Amino acid sequence: MSEPEPPVEANAVERTDREHVFGTWSYQSEVDPTQVVDASGVRFTTADGNEYIDFSGQLMCSNLGHSADRVADAVAEQVRDVPFVAPNYTTDARAKLGEQLAEITPGDLSKTFFSTSGTEAVEAALKIARLYTGKQKVVSRYRSYHGATHGSISVTGDPRRLAAEPGVPGTIKAPDPYAYGSTLDPMESLEYIDEMLMLEGDTVAAVLVEPIVGSNGILVPPDEYLPRLKEIAHDHDALLICDEVMSGFGRTGEWFGCDVFDVEPDIMTMAKGLTGAYQPLGATTVTSAIADHFEDELFCHGHTYAGHPVAVAAGAAAVETYREENLIEHASEVGDYLGERTAELGERHPSVGETRGVGLFRGIELTRDPEKRVPFGERADKVSTGTTVVDEVSATAADHGTYVANMINTLIVAPPLPITESEVDEAIDALDAGLDVSD
Ligand code: PLP
Repeated sequence: MSEPEPPVEANAVERTDREHVFGTWSYQSEVDPTQVVDASGVRFTTADGNEYIDFSGQLMCSNLGHSADRVADAVAEQVRDVPFVAPNYTTDARAKLGEQLAEITPGDLSKTFFSTSGTEAVEAALKIARLYTGKQKVVSRYRSYHGATHGSISVTGDPRRLAAEPGVPGTIKAPDPYAYGSTLDPMESLEYIDEMLMLEGDTVAAVLVEPIVGSNGILVPPDEYLPRLKEIAHDHDALLICDEVMSGFGRTGEWFGCDVFDVEPDIMTMAKGLTGAYQPLGATTVTSAIADHFEDELFCHGHTYAGHPVAVAAGAAAVETYREENLIEHASEVGDYLGERTAELGERHPSVGETRGVGLFRGIELTRDPEKRVPFGERADKVSTGTTVVDEVSATAADHGTYVANMINTLIVAPPLPITESEVDEAIDALDAGLDVSD
């Protein structure tokens, strides 16, 4: 057996950060930030000189990798030319990105409200749905994440919502299409939603879903699920909101998760890959019917930094990069390869319960008992703290040069879209070493 590595001493930056900056979603006593000093392509380097393949695109957001020069240049140019104007002025990039989003989003989605995060994109979607329909309630699902502020955490279903409970009145949770871990069949869960909407009477403004669930474990519904969900929502005069914050911008090998199922939502929320993480930017895009409604009704919403010139410049350059470098097609091709390689992990490691996903959006769910599908003690009803088995798998993969995020017994694989097959191979070797720990 090899000797355990001695713990790495925190450097001065890490100690200062630890003292003065809150860590997210954690007991502060457990926060242990690592300084990153360089990032390039699909890799990043920490202050102790270690280099990692970024197999989760940081928080499933660095879709362009860390060397998107077109975006970096657009940001630098915009900061110098017009660093900021109030939202009632515009810039070349804002108009351009609005038009680009109308082009790349499906169907009749045509007009966008810009904000600064996925959370705010969801908040805007909720307000728009309520103003448009005149109804207040929203149905969302348990295994979902939609943001951290009061409205968006209230529609979030996972345990991160618990600290904000009971949340905003009128937020109702439905079951999920989670064939591996739920007692309900995915399509049966839909009929349950149909019945819920009937029993709620005509009071529900919208049904909000991640087309492919992200941080709650990469849950891909059956092909018929999303089209039927749209039908159910519309039968009850409710809108369908697709939260594409994580599943958008090539992650699935299509522009958006809902494109995988040929569904056009009434409202779409975006962030993360929208700028490839080069700037914070959120977007809420609506159909022309919804947009037209606000010609004569007050769109009672806004932020100082709605459509911040530098952020939208990054967004416009990012969309150009996806297009000109054919990154969506590339993600689809390498995504198939990634699917094969992650499936092999399932064959080699008894602690892998299921591998699933689409394109470069893959989950590896761990289990202590593949027959009974018993999870490793990490619970879906509590925010996990301390070090879990899946954390140990991630830590060992990191010791072998690959960063992979995890949540609720599942490794979340979502690398930058430009990743190559040989970089996938390198990362899979590290995951092999990591999964030896849970076997
Ligand atoms: N919606 C989804 C599907 C997400 O995955 C996230 C973040 O992970 C959010 C919304 C919130 O986005 P942000 O963290 O940018 O506020």
